[in-house]
Amino acid sequence: MATNGESGQNQIHRHQEVGHKSLLQSDALYQYILETSVYPREPESMKELREVTAKHPWNIMTTSADEGQFLNMLLKLINAKNTMEIGVYTGYSLLATALALPDDGKILAMDINRENYELGLPIIEKAGLAHKIDFREGPALPVLDQMIEDGKFHGTYDFIFVDADKDNYLNYHKRLIDLVKVGGVIGYDNTLWNGSVVAPPDAPLRKYVRYYRDFVLELNKALAADPRIEICMLPVGDGITLCRRVS
Ligand code: SAM
Ligand code: CA
Repeated sequence: MATNGESGQNQIHRHQEVGHKSLLQSDALYQYILETSVYPREPESMKELREVTAKHPWNIMTTSADEGQFLNMLLKLINAKNTMEIGVYTGYSLLATALALPDDGKILAMDINRENYELGLPIIEKAGLAHKIDFREGPALPVLDQMIEDGKFHGTYDFIFVDADKDNYLNYHKRLIDLVKVGGVIGYDNTLWNGSVVAPPDAPLRKYVRYYRDFVLELNKALAADPRIEICMLPVGDGITLCRRVS
């Protein structure tokens, strides 16, 4: 636990200890949440997809089970029907979304990598949810630009989950703010970026953590200053900032 008097050495140690799955003060507390509230209620398809993903070499990228449960609940609370996801990987958050939407709900899902999506796809198909998903392989930005140019997608999304290239989040935000409905929600994922947003300048961060940290810091500042949205930053997973469009 952090104390004001802790040494720099301890601080460095603590940053290394913070796993990407949880920013809680102890692993035991996180395990408690998973075992008490998440795993016992996790749909069979999500469990299966989580287990398939666990065997994949890039499994560090997956949405955690508690965040999946959170997204599923949030989507139901806001009665989301038309949604978008940027950054699919094997599809854990996509499945959490698909399960929450009504049968005629839609998800525009984008990722530069189709192969990973196809690992999870058979499980999504088996759960009878594939008809809700429009998967587009390729970078998301040009698709968003096309949608903006087209005009007919303005203000049409109930929920947008952004979980891809952190150096583009602000570019996404510039476009998504037009595509989400007034009253709709954009969720930016990993906004606490491994806890690195508060790491001292000389902290021994992994290369990719250090590289993206400045983009995440810039995003967090920009969201906090954006009068078109209300925001709420939650320490779920690696941090998720919910932005509700107000104008
Ligand atoms: N939401 C996913 C889940 O629940 O497992 C995790 C997504 S993973 C953290 C980030 C994904 O973003 C990767 O699959 C990567 O291929 C994708 N990505 C990276 N750059 C992208 C871009 N420019 N456009 C779309 N997807 C991109
Ligand atoms: Ca993420």
